[in-house]
Order: sequence, then C-alpha cells, then structure tokens
Amino acid sequence: MKILIAADMEGVTGVVHWDQVNTSHPEYGRFRRLMTGDVNAAIRGAFEGGATEVTVTDGHAYSRNILIEELDPRARLNSGTPSALSMVQGVDLEMDGVLFVGYHARIGTQNAILEHTWSDERVANLWINGKQFGESGLNGAVCGHFGVPVIMIAGDQAVCTEAQELFGKVETAVVKWAAGRFAAECLPPEVSQKLIQAAAERAVRRLKAGKAPKPLQVETPVQLKVDFVQSEMADRAMIFPGAKRSERSIEVVAEDMVSAYAAFRALLAMAR
Ligand SMILES: [Zn+2]
Repeated sequence: MKILIAADMEGVTGVVHWDQVNTSHPEYGRFRRLMTGDVNAAIRGAFEGGATEVTVTDGHAYSRNILIEELDPRARLNSGTPSALSMVQGVDLEMDGVLFVGYHARIGTQNAILEHTWSDERVANLWINGKQFGESGLNGAVCGHFGVPVIMIAGDQAVCTEAQELFGKVETAVVKWAAGRFAAECLPPEVSQKLIQAAAERAVRRLKAGKAPKPLQVETPVQLKVDFVQSEMADRAMIFPGAKRSERSIEVVAEDMVSAYAAFRALLAMAR
C-alpha cells in the first residue's frame, strides 16, 4: 500500500496570512515547523491505516519548506523544484492513494484562507474542460491520470468542501474555519494534528477495503483555459504553440492531463 502525501502550506494549522508562508518573512520559520507537524500527523495516520510506503511531496513555493530533520523517519521526501510533476511529484501507476495536506481553496472562493490557484499574482481563473478548477482539482486530475484517487484532504472548511464536490466522499480534516481571506478560527496543532492523523488513518483503511473514492479522470483531449490577472500576461503567454486568445484568457488543448499540467505551468512561466 503506497501512499503519497502532497503538501502545500496555506492550509496548514494556524496559517491566515501570506507573511506566514513567505520564505523571507520572520514568521515563516514557525509555520514551516507547523507544516512539518501536519505532514507528520498524516504520515502516522497513513501507517496506522495500513500504508507500507509513504512518500511526501513538498509543494509550496520552491518546495523547500518541510523540515526533514523533524520528518517521521518512515517517510521519504520529495523536495526542491522544478520537478516533472511539481506538487504531485512521485505519483505514478504504482501509487495507491494520495492525501492532500495544507491545501487551500481555488481563487474566488468566499471565506477561504489565502484562496488562489497556483499564483495569486497571475491567475484570475482556471478551467479544465469548461469546469472551474483550483489546485486540488488540478493536482487531483494529474493523480487521476495515473489511476490514483485522492482519498483525504486537510485544510480550511472551504477546501474540504471543494474536495468533496470534486472527488466525492474523501476523508477531511478541517483545521480552521475561515471567516474571510485573512481571518479564521483555528485549532491549535495539538488538536488539529489529531484530526489529520485520524482522517488519514480512515482514508487508508477505506482504500484497503476497496471503499475509496474513484480517481478524478478528466476527458481527453483536455481543454485548458487560464484567465490571467493582467492582459500583458496573456500577451506573453500567447507564444505557446496552438494558444487561442480571448481578452485576458488563453486556451490550449492538451492530449492528456499530464500535458495539460505542463502547459499550465509553461503558460504561467511565460506570463511572468
Ligand atoms: Zn502554497
């Protein structure tokens, strides 16, 4: 039973502001430790649920947030960027299930801590096959390409709802209730990490029993549409082969979800 834990930072216990997830801010040191704590809770739960191998992928900013010296020694860590599959680096046909930890809601969600889709500065909206997607959908669909289901998510109440709409009955651990973009009622780590551990354990048990949600498999070819924040970003991204332009939006067609993911990252790199 091979489990991937894909971790982001905005949905980590206690996080309510960009400063706390900004690598150059003095508060960051505290929150990377909390991120490591949330991830460790998921690792403990996964093993208790019956996992035999756990890989963690650090997916925030430059993917160098998790403190390896404090990581549960039973896990392996994918650290650093760029990597082929970025936030879900490590997912392949052999992986059995994926847990999302520290996740946040898609751009535009009301009452959601630090909601955004990949880049707050560049992405105003993202659609896959005409449906609005955030990072849970985007990364979940890449896992779905390999036949791997998302079985659990931890973050605020908004991302947990978003994940249930996308993936069906995934296990959830709500670590904070957002009252806005920068305000939430937060559980202390001693409490939130128990919830994460328990949700991870339930998720892996269900997976072992054949009762996990199905992988999120999108239809191919994949239609990817990115609405950029500024029109000059769309001007720059237009050099992508086959790109179609409509106002601040760029649309491309990719043969499958892995190519769509690469196209999305390439468009954003060009838009910078
Ligand atoms: Zn992040």
